[in-house]
Amino acid sequence: MDQGSPWPSARGVVDIAHHAREQSMLDSTDVERLEAEAVNSAKIRQPLYAARRKIFPKRASGTFRRFKWLVMLITLGIYYITPWLRWDRGPHAPDQAVLVDIANRRFYFFFIEIWPQEFFIVAGLLVMAGIGLFLITSTVGRAWCGYTCPQTVWVDLFLVVERWIEGDRNARMKLDAGPWTTDKIGKRVAKHAIWLLIGVATGGAWIFYFADAPTLAVDFATGQAESIAYITVAILTATTYTFGGLMREQVCTYMCPWPRIQAAMLDEHSLTVTYNDWRGEPRVRGAKKALAAGQPVGDCVDCNACVAVCPMGIDIRDGQQLECITCALCIDACDDVMGRLGRDKGLISYATLADYNSNMALATAGGTMPIAPARVHGPDGRLSEVVRRTRLAEIIRPRTFVYFGMWALIGIGLLVALAMRTDLKINVQHDRNPQFVMLSDGSIRNGYTVKILNKVAEPRAVQLRLDGVDGGTMMIGGSELPESRDVLVMLEPDRLRTLRVFVRVPPDRLPADTSSFDFRVEEAGGAGSASYSALFYIPENRR
Ligand code: SF4
Ligand code: SF4
Repeated sequence: MDQGSPWPSARGVVDIAHHAREQSMLDSTDVERLEAEAVNSAKIRQPLYAARRKIFPKRASGTFRRFKWLVMLITLGIYYITPWLRWDRGPHAPDQAVLVDIANRRFYFFFIEIWPQEFFIVAGLLVMAGIGLFLITSTVGRAWCGYTCPQTVWVDLFLVVERWIEGDRNARMKLDAGPWTTDKIGKRVAKHAIWLLIGVATGGAWIFYFADAPTLAVDFATGQAESIAYITVAILTATTYTFGGLMREQVCTYMCPWPRIQAAMLDEHSLTVTYNDWRGEPRVRGAKKALAAGQPVGDCVDCNACVAVCPMGIDIRDGQQLECITCALCIDACDDVMGRLGRDKGLISYATLADYNSNMALATAGGTMPIAPARVHGPDGRLSEVVRRTRLAEIIRPRTFVYFGMWALIGIGLLVALAMRTDLKINVQHDRNPQFVMLSDGSIRNGYTVKILNKVAEPRAVQLRLDGVDGGTMMIGGSELPESRDVLVMLEPDRLRTLRVFVRVPPDRLPADTSSFDFRVEEAGGAGSASYSALFYIPENRR
């Protein structure tokens, strides 16, 4: 530093800075470095969009595949055939067994006819369907997804067409990877044309539920149907073709909320499709060689048959996955392999988590050792007797009874409501303003709107009567009939009739206060009757 200056020289400044940096570098080594990495670090960052990898499911055969064919046949049969079933309800009602008659606000289901005011029955059925789904899921897992969900059934149908035209997995993969030859174009055109036809048939069947099917079919074919019919068929054709043919497993994985919800309904006693790694691992391709080398060998021969048949394109050996719809085709594929190898079937099986945990504890000596196949196999290579098998009694548990009880209670309630409903109803509304009118002779008149509902598909003649209100007579608005205490009313089949009714009580018969009385309707011969309690108001100065 210059003796005469308070500032350090230039050289001195550099020295100080250098010293400070050295000091700082020394200091940085004293700071602990944490093992942390940003979750979106550039090194591991992946695009949010991943292109779909095509899946070419191989044809499976076995018990579950046969069961799925049966369910597919039944569900598709019900869907396509139901609108064509007839049900005789007499000359004044439609003869379609299942019909949603929007114009007349009626729902016909064989012998049951539901009016708008009975919509609680439909709501009850929907609640039953929801609870039924809970019941099924909590006991046998995603059986709905694997067997009866429309998406599953239609994808299965589309795959049948694809296999029929393009062949099984290997042929389809080869065709897909190959160049666009005439053969490939022809096959693709044929496949997509049939898929579109299935889409049209699906949309077509849907509209037949809303009108007389044979009439609508003719109108539709001749271009005379309502435009809404064509729009509906076009929308359903597009959605069926897109969801069933093009998107397939993506609908289940990305669009459907059910895989996310169902986890809440499963517990350790619910059945799910499970890879039993406690007997399958270590998986080995050359078992004989491995055994000769003294290595442990599990039952899984790593043949990938279970992966090849999976319509979701997943490997069940990776454990439970959101994508798994529990269609059980991997069980069929693996059982076939195990059968050919002379080993016990069920390497992939329907199992509960409780069974799985118990067997895993057995195979790993309570979790203290790696999986040892010898602990769960006998000397003959068969599964040991100590291995826990799924028992029906464990699946049916208090939770199952609670769900079933709720489901059955609602069902019984609906049946009782259906059994007790009458085919003749009356509803009355008192005029609010004015509540009463005093006539020139001093008598008091009250006005009412009376609605009489005939739920029978036949015309009916009923007697409308006053019950109570002594001395009162009634007059029907817009009618020439003389005033009396009862009148004959003609009801059209399956219709609601609305009447304006005026009840008059002469001055010498007026009750002391506002009083109640009944409007009663009765069919001749006592075939049906109904009544409604109403009030007759009188002014305060006449009480
Ligand atoms: S893993 Fe098995 S049960 Fe699950 S979707 Fe695939 S084939 Fe079906
Ligand atoms: S089919 Fe069975 S044996 Fe073959 S890879 Fe799958 S689990 Fe292993």
